[in-house]
Amino acid sequence: MYTYTASVSSQLPTCSSPSHPPPHHSTPLCYSLIGVLIYMAKLYSPCYLIIFFIISHLVMSIIGNLHLKPYEVLSQLYIETSLIISADSDDATLATSTDFGKLVQEIPAAVLYPSSTDDIVKLVNFSNNGVSVPFGIAARGHGHSVRGQAMAPNGVVVVMNFLNNNNNINGIRVSWDPILGFGYADVGGEQLWVDVLHATLEYGLAPVSWTDYLYLSVGGTLSNAGISGQTFRYGPQINNVLEMDVITGKGEFMTCSKHTDSELFFAVLGGLGQFGIITRARIVLEKAPTTVKWVRVLYADFSKFTSDQEQLISIDGMDYVEGSLMMNQSPPNNWRSSFFSHSNQSKILSLISKYGIIYCLEMVKYYDDHTANTVDEELHKMMKGLNFLSGHIFKKETTFVDFLNRVKAGEIKLQSKGLWDVPHPWLNLFVPKSSIMGFNDGVFVDIILRQNKTTGPILVWDDRMSVVIPEEETFYCVGLLHSCGFKDCESLDVQNEEILNYCGKSDLKIKQYLPHYRTKEAWKNHFGKKWEVFEQRKSQFDPKMILSPGQKIFN
Ligand SMILES: Cc1cc2nc3c(=O)[nH]c(=O)nc-3n(C[C@H](O)[C@H](O)[C@H](O)COP(=O)(O)OP(=O)(O)OC[C@H]3O[C@@H](n4cnc5c(N)ncnc54)[C@H](O)[C@@H]3O)c2cc1C
Repeated sequence: MYTYTASVSSQLPTCSSPSHPPPHHSTPLCYSLIGVLIYMAKLYSPCYLIIFFIISHLVMSIIGNLHLKPYEVLSQLYIETSLIISADSDDATLATSTDFGKLVQEIPAAVLYPSSTDDIVKLVNFSNNGVSVPFGIAARGHGHSVRGQAMAPNGVVVVMNFLNNNNNINGIRVSWDPILGFGYADVGGEQLWVDVLHATLEYGLAPVSWTDYLYLSVGGTLSNAGISGQTFRYGPQINNVLEMDVITGKGEFMTCSKHTDSELFFAVLGGLGQFGIITRARIVLEKAPTTVKWVRVLYADFSKFTSDQEQLISIDGMDYVEGSLMMNQSPPNNWRSSFFSHSNQSKILSLISKYGIIYCLEMVKYYDDHTANTVDEELHKMMKGLNFLSGHIFKKETTFVDFLNRVKAGEIKLQSKGLWDVPHPWLNLFVPKSSIMGFNDGVFVDIILRQNKTTGPILVWDDRMSVVIPEEETFYCVGLLHSCGFKDCESLDVQNEEILNYCGKSDLKIKQYLPHYRTKEAWKNHFGKKWEVFEQRKSQFDPKMILSPGQKIFN
């Protein structure tokens, strides 16, 4: 298993008494010089020596701040002993200098294990006002970014899940609003979605919009969008938030919603961590189903596959719609879900060898005891007229929880083979409906099938959402979820570049999801018309450009 959580908790600070400063590896130079000055003042008592001492103290502090390394400056900050000042080689800084992608390493100067949200407020205030050059601060949710987005080179990484260890008041609290007639959960930004699922199910409720994988933090996915096969129906996770507590880049603790401080609310949702650290989000809940009907159908013809997918999202009733590609290098069962039986896998493999690429449309209908009698008929009605390959329909029933948590089994399998903690040069793209045929010809068929390099599942699902998205009402999200060995990633990165170049040259008007760019120009281009607002919000909420430096937008 990916050991991030375990390695963090094994490094709990040992000096928990507030009366002791945190451990650090360097005695700031200015402190020892002050000691000498006090000694001189004792020897020569006239008061001008005291004035000399005060002035020297101030001068030395300033010189010290300017010349010390960031972690030495940070050692002057005292936050209830939970600020661990680490040298480059320390386990704490190493654990936070990498992520799920294993492609980037950026060493922070220090790691904060917050005992409360107040610690984070103090840290952000200290960067704003306590040092001559502000240092970067990155909230780390579960570190499942792939390009260093939750890192803080020479700054401070805040290990959000540490809030869990201190009876933090946020946690997960479930409420029911009798007037509005729906439930909601107040959830700490550090919470994992899988824990939100289990906590809300105790009340027979659940969030409506998910990600395919549940071991991601609420703050982490709300900083992007949070999308899966439910998005066409409920919008991304960022559309299902009623209110948030946020610590802005200026160190202010604010509660915001659509009606109160709405500028901050909209900035933070999908804001790539640039405007504030989410410490609480109020998430919409609905009555949870208990069971699901899960169906997959196969296509050899891409246009039939997409038009059926578009038909399914246009009717009312399906709870989840997603698609995927199957090729020799991207087999029917993969770590994201093992759906097909052994004999069905052989059947599909022979289809793949006949057609090269097979497209798989996946749909789910939720039900419970009250709807168990009618669910089959309803599903049948919704699927009427779909144009999949005759005889290639596969069905399964499972619990709601097992369906939502389907990727975990794949993770455990890969962990056991040592194939989870490997590099992941992923590329996620939003492709407008009008470009999807060109994308299939140029990318799936030409670049990917021809080069035979894909080593992971490829997902396709329709979407309508409000983060940076193509200017079309319907668009697809295509995830090229590669993994590779530590030495052979370069060719996949080259392929990613080739895909992006092809999309650019062919003017397919795609947008990256979980974006990664190397230049400000590229970021401006990504945001397009939204750039001006994004930049203006940055100067409003994080004028010293402290937050989420790993995204490399302003830093
Ligand atoms: C196996 C796997 C499956 C995935 N499946 C999906 C999927 O189905 N759908 C989908 O949408 N995404 C998916 N993702 C992508 C995932 O949503 C993002 O990478 C997300 O950011 C990861 O969450 P995290 O908690 O690990 O965030 P981190 O990687 O820790 O942080 C991501 C960014 O958010 C910032 N951040 C973290 N916490 C906070 C906070 N509390 N307040 C403000 N900013 C914060 C960080 O500074 C950083 O910039 C998947 C990723 C993996 C590895």
